[in-house]
Amino acid sequence: MSFVRFASIVPDIATRAIDHAFDYLVPERLERSCTVGATVLVTFSHRDVVGYVIDLKDEPSQGLAPERVLPVRRVLAESAFDEHSACVAQWISREYACTLPDAIRPFLAPGQTMRVRRKKEGDPWQLVVERSGPVDERWVTLTPAARDFKPRPHASRQRLVLAALRDGAQRMAELSATLPGSAGTVSTLAKRGVVRVEARRRVRGGDVTRLSSAKAKRPRQLTADQEGAIEAIRAARCRGHGEVVLVDGVTGSGKTEVYLSAIEESLSDGKGAIVLVPEISLTAQTVGRFRSRFGDDVAILHSRLSSGERFDQWDLVREGHARVVVGARSALFAPLSTLGLIIIDEEHEGSYKQDCAPRYHAREVAARLAQERGCALVLGSATPSLESLERCGQGSWGGSNWVHVSMPRRVGTARLPEIRVVDMTRQFAAGGRSVFSRPLAEALEGMAARQEKAVLLLNRRGFANFLMCRECGAVPECPHCSCALTYHERTHALMCHSCGRSWPVRAYPDPATRCPNCKSRYMGAYGVGTQRVEDELKGLLGDSAEVIRMDADSTKGKGTHQRLLERFDGASCAVLLGTQMIAKGLDFPEVTLVGVINADTTLKLPDFRAAERTYDLLEQVAGRAGRGERAGEVIIQTYWAGHPAIQAVLKHERDVFLGPELRERREGSYPPFGRLANITLWGLSAEAVRCGSSSVAAIVREKVGSSRGWEVLGPADCLKARVKDRVRRHVMVKAPVNASVGELLAHSVREAAIPRGVSVAIDVDAYDLM
Ligand code: ADP
Ligand code: ZN
Ligand code: ZN
Repeated sequence: MSFVRFASIVPDIATRAIDHAFDYLVPERLERSCTVGATVLVTFSHRDVVGYVIDLKDEPSQGLAPERVLPVRRVLAESAFDEHSACVAQWISREYACTLPDAIRPFLAPGQTMRVRRKKEGDPWQLVVERSGPVDERWVTLTPAARDFKPRPHASRQRLVLAALRDGAQRMAELSATLPGSAGTVSTLAKRGVVRVEARRRVRGGDVTRLSSAKAKRPRQLTADQEGAIEAIRAARCRGHGEVVLVDGVTGSGKTEVYLSAIEESLSDGKGAIVLVPEISLTAQTVGRFRSRFGDDVAILHSRLSSGERFDQWDLVREGHARVVVGARSALFAPLSTLGLIIIDEEHEGSYKQDCAPRYHAREVAARLAQERGCALVLGSATPSLESLERCGQGSWGGSNWVHVSMPRRVGTARLPEIRVVDMTRQFAAGGRSVFSRPLAEALEGMAARQEKAVLLLNRRGFANFLMCRECGAVPECPHCSCALTYHERTHALMCHSCGRSWPVRAYPDPATRCPNCKSRYMGAYGVGTQRVEDELKGLLGDSAEVIRMDADSTKGKGTHQRLLERFDGASCAVLLGTQMIAKGLDFPEVTLVGVINADTTLKLPDFRAAERTYDLLEQVAGRAGRGERAGEVIIQTYWAGHPAIQAVLKHERDVFLGPELRERREGSYPPFGRLANITLWGLSAEAVRCGSSSVAAIVREKVGSSRGWEVLGPADCLKARVKDRVRRHVMVKAPVNASVGELLAHSVREAAIPRGVSVAIDVDAYDLM
């Protein structure tokens, strides 16, 4: 006799906010395939709907008579996740106030969507399945004949192609991407029998990097700090309660080696590992090190892969062929059957917060997943987030232990670099008008003379600009709100984003064009482009050093980051000039100089994390210097030399920054001492958005009442008050650290009177407040 089984199924319907599952009968013929994690076809409100199985049980809930329960119609895709993942998905939905289907979708097989749709009103509903397209599967290899082949003197492309193939076979698509026009060359070479082109069945998406420095040579001996960290991780892993180990290690202390060893131990216990890195294209070196240690046991998952590539990598994991998953935050959802460890590298990075639904933070999901699966969570950083430091200080958080291990020394003979802070207001007073101060210009020349390498950071924030005094560095503030006024080029106006007041530049401060601080007339919209710096740099260094510019413009195509880094790697003397993207993860021992052109632009952003982000950035970029035998020097140019974030970097002392920062956060009840959620509303009609936001604010206020630790701010215009013609307003909610903000806000928004045409997004633990 077989049992009648029931499945809890979440219907995926775009038009309705689904916050719970519905019960269906599992017919006998589907008993084997209709498991937790399966995608199925069911009937919902008299039509076919795609749904996801999140639970199986022996009787239906909701007080339904078993014979009234509708059957599952078809199983559309086999299981993509297990019971643990189903629990985590439900938690994500509650915690981050998103619908259940939104929370489940990240767990599904990538590159394939299933929906029941109809083309237009009145048409029949139809199941539509979209699968990712095929990719170019042709591979090019050298034949034995290549050894004796001499290209003619002018056949330079042939020589390049042959050189590129010397390290092994390459995909045709990749070859044409690196060497444009090589397709023709390849077919000429193939005719001569020098190369062979063949179709291979292969797994897409595994390529990472050919940087020579991306090999993880096993060190002969681990440092004592490394041993300590590995021991702490081992203990956490063996206890299996979802413990968190924060590896707080200075740049170059060997954290990556700690991760590698910890993963080795986990694998030898028969358990897999997930490693998150902030952005794959920027951390190719780190990823390469995992691949070189674990080979084909590694799957790579990130957004720059095509959907076909992503599917292949994901499938490797599901089939159990790859037990180490390295990737961006979405790698958390990989279908590993056993999990010993989750590692989050550079855990302080803002990119771990997803900015569209589900708006989760990878650290929080990972902590939850670790508890659920009984594994350990390792957070690594040279500049841990204030949240993680605070939780370690408490010793436990959310039902798990939080352990702090520190690695204060660099590996081997490498020392932390010498830091110099250059006060740019003095440079200006002394007549300097270049983007390079005297000390930085001299250091660059010295570096070029010694034929070494330098990294130069141009700190550029998003869209906001500031008017700044070039003499004293003062930035005009709102007389009513004490927050920096942003400068709007188009209207030539200064605006306060707290109170919304604005002044034409000429009328501020009543009615002078002079600096409010020192009365100087040198007020300028501050912000230089990488292009200008590149030009000045070439003027300064001439041909003595290669200049490699890395910014949003020069890294548009797939694999371009990579190629620029390879150029930097191969050069004998070069400057890598770039925006924020060059600050992370690079490990080039020949870099002896790091320059920061403008340290303080991010300090002035109207965001409570502005100082923390600046500190992190400076500390990270400074960490690129002196990783090898030669000592490193760091020169930081700033108009705000006295700011604690800059002083802390200068003195290699985090507490210089933490002390005042934590005091301010505590006073304002900001994270880590409170939670901050942001509800944004947008639409074409300003009036409708205004009504909707007022309604939301009123209902949240009503629910919150006078509860301790809660505060509702707004509604007010967003800092980005208009995007793509949509007017934007927001309501901010502060809550105690342990409050269920998500549930309260989800209910509030459901009850609020939100006019048609107005969209709403709830962002719990928001990072982007603009
Ligand atoms: P972090 O991630 O902390 O910045 P890395 O893991 O990149 O540091 O290590 C810095 C450098 O030191 C790397 O080139 C790495 O190969 C090397 N290294 C790490 N551990 C050891 C060790 N125990 N002995 C020798 N070299 C090591
Ligand atoms: Zn104001
Ligand atoms: Zn001034």
